[in-house]
Order: sequence, then C-alpha cells, then structure tokens
Amino acid sequence: MNATNDPGLRSWLAVDDSSDFPIQNLPFGMFTTGDDQEPRAGVAIGNQIVDLLAVHRSGVMSFPSEAMLRGSLNSLFAFGAEPVRRRVSELLTAGNKELSRVPNRGMVGMAAAELHMPFTVGDYVDFYSSEQHATNVGRMFRPDDPPLLPNWRHVPIAYHGRASTVVVSGSPVTRPNGQRPGPDGPTFGPSRKLDIELEVGFFTGKPTALGQTIAVDDALDHIGGVVLVNDWSARDIQAWEYRPLGPFLGKSFATSTSPWVVTTQALAPFMVEATAQEPEPLPYLNAKPNLALDLTLQVELNGSLITGTSFRDMYWTMAQQLAHAASNGTAIRVGDLYASGTVSGPERNQFGSLLELSWNGSEPIEIGDGTQRTFLEDGDTVRITGWCQSDHGPKIGFGECVGTVVPAVDY
Ligand code: CA
Repeated sequence: MNATNDPGLRSWLAVDDSSDFPIQNLPFGMFTTGDDQEPRAGVAIGNQIVDLLAVHRSGVMSFPSEAMLRGSLNSLFAFGAEPVRRRVSELLTAGNKELSRVPNRGMVGMAAAELHMPFTVGDYVDFYSSEQHATNVGRMFRPDDPPLLPNWRHVPIAYHGRASTVVVSGSPVTRPNGQRPGPDGPTFGPSRKLDIELEVGFFTGKPTALGQTIAVDDALDHIGGVVLVNDWSARDIQAWEYRPLGPFLGKSFATSTSPWVVTTQALAPFMVEATAQEPEPLPYLNAKPNLALDLTLQVELNGSLITGTSFRDMYWTMAQQLAHAASNGTAIRVGDLYASGTVSGPERNQFGSLLELSWNGSEPIEIGDGTQRTFLEDGDTVRITGWCQSDHGPKIGFGECVGTVVPAVDY
C-alpha cells in the first residue's frame, strides 16, 4: 500500500463514483484516436485517458524515448510502470496544475478512443486452478473416476495456449470449425458446443533469463498487472482431441482480454489470505503469506446476468502459478499472459462456463429474453466485468471483456 491507494485521494478531474477508474486505480492501456495507425500508451481515469505521449512531449513527464510509448506496453512495463503510475497520480491529484501546460490537459475522452491489445503477448499459459471447476469437469468428462486427478492438489496444472489469437475485448469471435465426435465417428464442421470460460489473467512485468527461477514470495513483484480473460472453448472439439496431450484447437481460436491492465500496486489493498491448502504445497510453492485477490466477477449473456463469483477462492494463487511456471528455469518475458483457468464458485449460479451452468448441455439455462441456452449461438454477446471494492472505499474496476460470436466460415 502506498499513497496512490489512499481512499481519501481526490482528483481535480470529476470522476463518477460508479466509475471503474478512480484515481486510486490508474490502469494502463493502448489506444488510438481518429485515423491513428499506431496505438499509444495511456492511463485511464474516469471517462478519460491520460495520453502519455502528449504528456511526454510537453515535458511534464519524461520517458527515455517516444518508442517506449508506442505499439504495446511491453517496453513501458520493462522500464517500470509503477513510477509512471505514481507520477500520473501526482499530476491528477486535486490542486496539481502541471497538466494545464499540456494541450487538452493531456486527456483524450474514452468515447473517442479505440482500445487495443495492451501487450504484445510472447507466450500464453492457461492454468486450471479452481477446485470447483476442475471437480465439475472431472465429474462430466470422467464420470467413473475420482473428479480430481491425484496430482491436482500438488501441482498447478496448465497448458501452453496460443499467443497469436489473444485478442482485445470487442474483437469478434468466429465460431471454429473442427472435428466433432459422433456415434459414427468424427465429422468436420462448425463447433456445436461453443462456450466461454470466465478467467482472470496477469501479464508479467519483469523478465527472467533462461535458467533463472522466481521465488514464490517474490512472484507478485514480477506481475505487471491483471486483466479479465474469456478463454473461449469449443467443447465438442476439446472433448475429442484432448486426450492424451491436452487442449489444442478447441481453445486456440480465440482468447479475449480486457484492455486496461490494473497494476498489482492498485490491487495491493485487495490481496487477502488465500484458502488453506491441504496437503501443504511443496516448499517452492509454499508462499508465506499466500495471497489471493479479492475480485468480484460477473458474466452477462446478451445483457442478462448468467453467473457471478469471486476470484479469491481459487485454490492456486497467482504467485504460486508464476513461481511454478518459472520453476524449471524457462525464461519469462515481459508481456507473457498467464490466465487462471475457469473461475467457478461452489454454487450452481457461480459456475464460470456454460459447460458447467448447463451441465454439458443437459440442463439449459434461461436468459433474460425468455430464450434458453446450453452453449453459445451465433450473434450472442458475452460480457465479463470485475471489480475490487472494500466497504465504502473506491471501486478498482477492470472495465469489460466483451465478445460477440460470428458464424463459422465455410470450409
Ligand atoms: Ca481455460
């Protein structure tokens, strides 16, 4: 916790109480306006974006180069995002007049901006860290075995996903074609079980060299910031292909993230003691304290709320995930994306996928327009939101992660 988190901090810019982006948040993102070709870095406050390039050019805040503010957040985070966030916080604090030297006070209205992928993602890993989700999937896909495999409480299970198809919120999601299992063998065509996965992801902000590892108690320092993730999944393709090597084409057609990267410093007041783990993790995963993020999550389908849960109950924490991912000496780059795995709570209305909500299609759910769903139909829009908030304190919101399903291409 530092001064930038002070609940009493106020900006000279009017920010609505319902905004995801009060002065205590100040997440980073990439945006363009008008005919701009190249995204540039900004910081969100209220319904405005602080244009870091404009602020740099005015001399109010200097960066080593303009290039650092262009294209993606990778070089800015490698340089160090937190000193930048602290300085932006100072510039926005009530009484500070320095931004009056910048045209338009260095601000761009969010309504006039297009948001882009915040990072160039080098590697993308997806974990499987919710005990409830892993148990639900085990019950459906392996009904004759214990739902949790024997390794699950010892090792944070994950697979390497596909970085090239990580897209920013608002990007359309094309229904994938693929092999669908059937009683007479597989057929090839559009997935009939297109699904969502409600997830939370983090981008790494500090690299390691090949051969280095990350101590679990230092792991949060390597996390640059956190976003909402929808790991779109084609359950029919996935169920047919996943044994024995794991997810492949049933997952790699699209993964959406929210555009604003909420820094670990902004989230510091919401790190809470994680769920107790039994058995005790191996020493390299045994974080002391083991901290979970108290983040509330919701999913709307075509505007109607279909599920909501909390990220704090995940079995494996972000620090444990990153320490594990680095434990074999692999190199970690700035801008790698690590997603949590589907976040499912214990109750039926807290499950983080349609697979679970409709129990693999056997129990359709009602949505607000009077129709039912088992899996997604073409034209469906899914919107994930999330926020951290203590009693009467400022809301540290994540914006939204949205995607609309468009029909499969003819093959
Ligand atoms: Ca997933």
